This record gives sequence, C-alpha cells and structure tokens, in this order.
Amino acid sequence: MLSDHTRWSRERMSETISRFERTHENTLREYPLMTFAAYIEPFASHPVLQRRVLHVLESLPDEVQRDFLDDPRFRVEIDNYIPGVGWSFWMPPPGVDGQGSRCVILRSKLAEASESFAHYVIAHEFAHAFLRNGGWGEITDIEQAADALAASWGFVHYPNR
Ligand SMILES: [Zn+2]
Repeated sequence: MLSDHTRWSRERMSETISRFERTHENTLREYPLMTFAAYIEPFASHPVLQRRVLHVLESLPDEVQRDFLDDPRFRVEIDNYIPGVGWSFWMPPPGVDGQGSRCVILRSKLAEASESFAHYVIAHEFAHAFLRNGGWGEITDIEQAADALAASWGFVHYPNR
C-alpha cells in the first residue's frame, strides 16, 4: 500500500519526466532553427531572399541539415558586388578533404527572380556544399550531380518557366 508520500513522489516524478521530455523536445525542435538563424542573418536586409534561403534550409533532409549544422566551416553569405558571376557560387575549400571553408554565396538579385527559380538556385548551391563540390553516386559531372540532388529535395529548374 502506497503512503501518501510515495504517491506524491510518483506523481512528482512523472511530472518531472514529462516536463523534461517537453523541454528536450523543444530543444530538439528549436536548435536547428536557432542555428539556421546564423545562416540567414547575412540576409537580414533582404527579407525576400532571407525567406527563400530559410525555406530551402528547412526543406533539406535531416542528414543534410545535420551535415551543415555540425560543420562550423559551413556558411551562407550574400554578395552584391562581384561582376561577371552568376546567381550564386560555392567557394570550394582551398585544402584537401574539407580543409578551409564551405561557403555558399548567393547574389542579392536572387530576391528579384521567380520564387521557384531562386529556390532551385539556393538548393543547387547547398547540393554542391553537401557533395563537397563532387559527384553524386554515378553522376560524376558536378553540375549534373548538384541538379540531381537538388531535384531529389524537390527543387527543380524549369528553364521555360
Ligand atoms: Zn553549380
């Protein structure tokens, strides 16, 4: 027979456990968003592009999000000023095997492109970053590899739209 004290303790215990689980759950849910904040901070003065970058980040598969979040060298930056460069580019690591930076650079004019095209460009660059600018499976051409991986995430380039 349980004493009042024991019953109280069990209730308190299960309360404590469920509170812990709620806290843990919140941490798991908020941690990626808090960390993504560092990736979208450079776009603070470009809210349209910032939303587009965040949308793609949140759409990435868990393993890709983790790969970026676990690598302090992974960065996303905005660029306005380099002439002769396309919508975006990936700065490959200068060293071998992931030494140096993994930096995706997006042009501010992506804010003016159609949403689907901008999402595709951003996903394509994230694909390069995930693949370390390499191939994907049997696809050895790095551009085709990035397009195929981005498409697997749901971001496809439709040239005639
Ligand atoms: Zn590319």
